[in-house]
Amino acid sequence: MYIVLLGAPGSGKGTAGKVIAEDLNLAHISTGDLFRENLKNETPLGLEAKQYMDKGELVPDDVTIRMLKSRLGESDVVNGAVLDGFPRTGVQAKSLDVMLNEMGAKVDMALNIDVPFDEIVERIANRRSCRGCSEIYNVVFNPPKQEGICDKCGGELYQREDQKPEVVQNRLEVYKNSSAELINYYDAKHVLRTEKAGDKAGRTSYDVAEKIEKEIKNGWN
Ligand SMILES: [Zn+2]
Repeated sequence: MYIVLLGAPGSGKGTAGKVIAEDLNLAHISTGDLFRENLKNETPLGLEAKQYMDKGELVPDDVTIRMLKSRLGESDVVNGAVLDGFPRTGVQAKSLDVMLNEMGAKVDMALNIDVPFDEIVERIANRRSCRGCSEIYNVVFNPPKQEGICDKCGGELYQREDQKPEVVQNRLEVYKNSSAELINYYDAKHVLRTEKAGDKAGRTSYDVAEKIEKEIKNGWN
């Protein structure tokens, strides 16, 4: 079975994906990890990607697609996989369908974890990082003993540029625009599954993962 994860940055889809993959014995494939591994192991595809990255250019779709194709051929993908970070566009979604079709498989579910944007902005804006040791705090749920000072090393706590509300809001708008195409694509294929999460919904992305797992276990056996 193949599950594609959709959801905004900060929605907790990464956590949900890992839980689902582990419990259902599926490979967990995140494009971020895929790039890091190919670069670290200096594979031909990693070296190809590096040429673009060194020039500050985006890695072309076909390089990413070939990396994924090679990853899908590895031995831990016997039962299928949870894909996090791919596809990002309609074109990528179509290539994924072609790839899976060649393997006699298909996307069985596109799980869209839907957290209200205002909750995501607040969640991320509450984070503080230590300049000394990079420890991360949350000013509401996990505050330091003394405001602005790291418990571990006494370093100064600060808000990273990419955690500022206006920056997060911007990123979420970009996500909204780019994800609409994918949501429509999978909806038309009748595999889209939207689950609300967050404070208002009263459940976390972890709860969503457990619910989906249970349904799959009941329905697939
Ligand atoms: Zn520190």
